[in-house]
Amino acid sequence: MSKRDWEADWAEADAWRAAVKEKCPLVYPYSDFQEFVGVRYGFDCPKGWRGIVEELSVQLQKYLEENPIEGFCCEQVKEKFGGLRYYVGPADETIWDMINVAESKSYKICQDCGAPGETRSGGWTRTVCDECSAEREEEKLGLC
Ligand SMILES: [Zn+2]
Repeated sequence: MSKRDWEADWAEADAWRAAVKEKCPLVYPYSDFQEFVGVRYGFDCPKGWRGIVEELSVQLQKYLEENPIEGFCCEQVKEKFGGLRYYVGPADETIWDMINVAESKSYKICQDCGAPGETRSGGWTRTVCDECSAEREEEKLGLC
């Protein structure tokens, strides 16, 4: 296996974020995520969970079109203890429910590739499928 091409990964993630932001302007009502939230936060969605975050963003956008919430915005997206964390500004019950559903889904989906997975602990808790789990073991042992 070749070394990961971080630069290509980065560019791909950037393009994906820009596309989601363009589709959901009420959820991401700022031109630059990093500039808006500051350096402490980020929009770091593991590749395998992009589908979940995109679906949630579209849901939120639709909801906000009919139920505008002053000051609403997505403040942070990240992985923590094997689960997706999606933080927003002022919101209501319906929005919290949507976010809860999306976050629960992440515990059953591989954060690396999007295949069905499960949460595994050991050093670093993450949610991955069997294949990606094996790959990471190999990486740790320096077999590739
Ligand atoms: Zn996987």
